[in-house]
Amino acid sequence: MPSLKRYSTFGLDADCASIHGFSDIPSFLSLYNSHETVYLLGGGSNSIFTEDFQGAVLVNEIKGISHFDDESYHYLRVGAGENWHDFVTLCLENQWYGLENLALIPGSVGASPIQNIGAYGIEVNAFIDTVEIVVLDTGEKTLLKNNDCAFGYRDSIFKNALANKVLITHVNFKLPKAHTLATSYGELAALEKPTPESIYHKVIEIRQQKLPDPATFGNAGSFFKNPVVPMSVLANISKQYDTVPHFVVPSSDVQSSDEFVKIPAAWLIDQSGFKGATLNQVRCHPTQPLVLTNLGGAKGKDVIAMASDIIATVYDKFAIKLEPEVRLMGSKGLISL
Ligand SMILES: Cc1cc2nc3c(=O)[nH]c(=O)nc-3n(C[C@H](O)[C@H](O)[C@H](O)COP(=O)(O)OP(=O)(O)OC[C@H]3O[C@@H](n4cnc5c(N)ncnc54)[C@H](O)[C@@H]3O)c2cc1C
Repeated sequence: MPSLKRYSTFGLDADCASIHGFSDIPSFLSLYNSHETVYLLGGGSNSIFTEDFQGAVLVNEIKGISHFDDESYHYLRVGAGENWHDFVTLCLENQWYGLENLALIPGSVGASPIQNIGAYGIEVNAFIDTVEIVVLDTGEKTLLKNNDCAFGYRDSIFKNALANKVLITHVNFKLPKAHTLATSYGELAALEKPTPESIYHKVIEIRQQKLPDPATFGNAGSFFKNPVVPMSVLANISKQYDTVPHFVVPSSDVQSSDEFVKIPAAWLIDQSGFKGATLNQVRCHPTQPLVLTNLGGAKGKDVIAMASDIIATVYDKFAIKLEPEVRLMGSKGLISL
């Protein structure tokens, strides 16, 4: 059975029945229809294989980037198998601005709408025009408009109603020529006379300082989502802590008239005593406790044990249930904690 170790940035030892790359829709459909159980993979930076997977892994290698513009926008049609950071860099080199805050996020362009990747004050949905998909069961090609994708915080229709039902083949971006820089994030706010180029380089610098490089310590970025909770939950926690970091969530994002706040999961995990904690070869990263790392030779059961312990402890202490941001794979498919 082939090893999945180099197909997932967390780098656990796990095998699968077979691995196949595909670079066009006909070859994808023929692979998909000839295997009973499949998992679609891009760069494997959000997927953790916790044990051997009893199915075929199909790796998206659909490439190609085309561009045109009009008076107001740059339009880009990008193959789902293109590397995200390379695409962001290409945009910057051509002065097609907007995506610079999202530099150095690992993975493929095709996965970017799935969890609506975001960083440093920007989410990718602000720049997505349409998403081209193939419906797995019928092979039908169709196009989803931005509004059809139900984008939310690390969320979209692709994680809900369309989960495991479609292949994303291309993402169409629309980058406004009258572009506003997003510099609200702390360390970007300190930039003097910010430009898209200086933001791009600063984001890369901050990320390289703060986040463990998967090439050194396997990881999948943020393991948990930052919980969004009603203001009353924050008020309760604030009775015991002088300062509780939080960000008010716009009511349009939560579709509710009540006030909601986002509390950094890293703070909750840190307060629960896990920062730097190690279970066998799985470590809660000492400078960014939201990230779990593989110190080398970690086992899937230890990743699950550590993550479950964090969830239970944070829940006992704060009555907040952390949800994984990563995709955890078991022997038959996705598993939840
Ligand atoms: C060091 C590090 C830092 C990170 N920082 C960030 C960050 O700042 N912000 C952020 O949002 N994320 C971050 N991530 C998470 C990750 O980079 C993103 O989620 C990324 O979009 C995953 O892309 P991928 O191609 O590697 O996805 P994969 O892990 O290959 O796939 C993710 C999911 O999407 C599905 N999928 C993949 N491609 C397709 C397709 N073409 N069609 C249908 N389904 C598909 C898979 O089945 C799987 O369920 C980070 C990860 C790491 C390792």
